[in-house]
Amino acid sequence: GEIYGGSRSAWDYGPLGVELKENIRQQWWQRFVRSRADMVGLDSSVILPRAVWEASGHVATFTDPLVECLSCHKRLRQDHLLENFEAKKGRPAEGMEEIACPNCGTRGEWTEPQNFSGLMKTYLGPVDNEEGLHFLRPETAQGIFVNFNNVVTASRKRPPFGIGQIGKSFRNEITPGNFIFRTREFEQMEMQFFCQPGTEMKWFEYWKKHRLAWHEALGMGDDNYRFHDHEKLAHYANAATDIEFRMPFGFKEVEGIHSRTDFDLSQHEKFSGRQIKYFDPERNENYTPYDVETSIGVDRMFLSVMCHSYTEEELENGSSRVVLKLPEPLAPVKCAVL
Ligand code: ATP
Repeated sequence: GEIYGGSRSAWDYGPLGVELKENIRQQWWQRFVRSRADMVGLDSSVILPRAVWEASGHVATFTDPLVECLSCHKRLRQDHLLENFEAKKGRPAEGMEEIACPNCGTRGEWTEPQNFSGLMKTYLGPVDNEEGLHFLRPETAQGIFVNFNNVVTASRKRPPFGIGQIGKSFRNEITPGNFIFRTREFEQMEMQFFCQPGTEMKWFEYWKKHRLAWHEALGMGDDNYRFHDHEKLAHYANAATDIEFRMPFGFKEVEGIHSRTDFDLSQHEKFSGRQIKYFDPERNENYTPYDVETSIGVDRMFLSVMCHSYTEEELENGSSRVVLKLPEPLAPVKCAVL
């Protein structure tokens, strides 16, 4: 909507950008869905029944702590303010008194944190009431979990196997920013890998290794990646790490890898009343598979590629020019005759 002044959190991709974006998707889909016998793809709906988000815990817990600067009234995420303080000072803040507002510079003048729901609402049907209230998906993952039985029946896969999906997700982010790093509408490439309980740590390590290798194979410099293991785990996880990339504004998450246990399948079984298990013919028993997730944002990956590829070149005549040194597999144009 640039002709109307634009929106702080939405960006469109032009003819070359869309090719680069498609190449990112293709690299991922070819490598992790098409070329693997233990993986299949899916395309699930953006708007799912509300019960999906009640079962997943999003309605109750998909919230961020929001604080407001008492001086300029800018609203910011408290966890981001604390993280930035620690990244700058090399130690955690003792309290909000130490934190200065990045907008107006006033120190330590904040409201108490309030929880703010990240779910984006929409109303289906003719009346805007509670009955029509639905949410746009904040992740593609739940569309995979609710389709677990369908995919097992249709594809005859048995654990260990995975389901991959690429699609848009929506989050009502309080502070979108850093260009396409954090927006309210973005695209994810997600994979849920189902395995036998007790084997999930082996697969977690496996996916850490294979996902990092995929990034490194693009040739953007192995030193520009690092893992950030989570100490504080989300309610559904028993292990989690981020793959971070060196952006111009510091090392930042581009991908999350989470061992989600049997939390999601069990919750959907409980809330839907349908059995969601795998029947193992060898052991002659049903079990709920454990799940390891890898989740990467297409737009964030795009940003990392652009940041890395941007260079300025000095010419012999003393002038300089901007050159984009894109990784060959992702470049929209491979060769030109001019
Ligand atoms: P953050 O801490 O940056 O908010 P997150 O931990 O909530 O991210 P996940 O829920 O693990 O992110 O999402 C997986 C991936 O989806 C992220 O690694 C990122 O690449 C992408 N992603 C998440 N939120 C956004 C957003 N608002 N804009 C663009 N990409 C996003």
